[in-house]
Amino acid sequence: MDDKGISKNEVFETLRNFKEQDMTHRSGKILGSMCTCPHEVGVKAYCMFLESNLGDPGLFQGTKTMEDEVIAMLGNLLGKNNVYGHIITGGTEANIMAMRAARNSSGIKNPEIIVPKSAHFSFKKAADMLCLKIKEAKLDDNYCVDVESVNDLLSNHTIAVVGIAGTTELGKVDPIEELSNICFENEIFLHVDAAFGGFSIPFLNGRGYNFPKFDFSLQGVCSITIDPHKMGLTPIPTGGILFRDKSYLDVMSIETPYLTEDRQSTIVGTRTGASTAATWALMKYLGRNGYRKVAERCMEHTRLLAQGVKDSGFILVTEPQLNIVAFNSREMTVWEIADRLKERGWAVSISSYPQAIRIIVMPHLNKEHIESFLTDLREIRI
Ligand code: PLP
Repeated sequence: MDDKGISKNEVFETLRNFKEQDMTHRSGKILGSMCTCPHEVGVKAYCMFLESNLGDPGLFQGTKTMEDEVIAMLGNLLGKNNVYGHIITGGTEANIMAMRAARNSSGIKNPEIIVPKSAHFSFKKAADMLCLKIKEAKLDDNYCVDVESVNDLLSNHTIAVVGIAGTTELGKVDPIEELSNICFENEIFLHVDAAFGGFSIPFLNGRGYNFPKFDFSLQGVCSITIDPHKMGLTPIPTGGILFRDKSYLDVMSIETPYLTEDRQSTIVGTRTGASTAATWALMKYLGRNGYRKVAERCMEHTRLLAQGVKDSGFILVTEPQLNIVAFNSREMTVWEIADRLKERGWAVSISSYPQAIRIIVMPHLNKEHIESFLTDLREIRI
């Protein structure tokens, strides 16, 4: 840093240069990300609460009330009216908090967690930080967790089982009801990672979709991750962690000597209230009908894309359950496909089991984007 500052004009001119080097969701070219263009109402709400710190909630009582209301709305969406939790930075922090609550409430030495092979890598971070051993359960032919494999991995050291409602790579929903029965019977903490699916499954169900139960209506489910910054359309960073009982927050609370709250359960200390404001605003503004439209539109585009991929001679690795399409080819490696698409400006990602081009059909994509992508896909094969 220099002694003398530069002018505002220079600052913003340089910032614009940096920004020009970034991709934008608005281009419709980002196909491999679970982030999307934040909704304008969420952005406005976010900007109104830039100085609010939920790490010191006594100073920001309005924001704290909003957080309580958001947690209640999310609980209501996910099958239970009185749940406890926080709006945090994202799915990673939510999953770490869930594992921490499970570990602390179990009192078990040499703790182990059972996660599906399809689990997000945040559980590896959680395991590393919390000294947990990870046991990976196999997947069935449909890329959902194999319940028998979970059963086989249970031991006296198991402190948590994880099920996923919307896997990161393929968007699959695990048989959470069966996991719930096992965990309830064995008094084991069941965490559901609905970071991706939490903001769409509840809106799609009953509208020609029949997703398996995955929420607090199942008695074994102890906690749920749900990310407003994915299908909830809020600005990043916005994650949500919900617990069935307050005791799960209490077992990981730490004394906070100088703040306006006595104890704190979140990992982050200073915690933006802006994410909470954006979530509150969008849940109120869009309502169930608004979110239903968003989720249905994404699924419509998903079907269009999946059909187009098949018609272009590529192989769908699985029929999409949520808004993720994964495909590969007998003639080209996935790296070749990704490179050729990149030459045409498309940013896709590659899933690992099996290796496939992975496209997340997020709300920023419209029909024209999908059609233009399919045209390029047909051409790169020729
Ligand atoms: N859980 C699932 C199922 C995810 O797909 C992701 C991210 O893609 C995460 C957790 C981690 O979320 P974040 O990147 O917001 O920390």
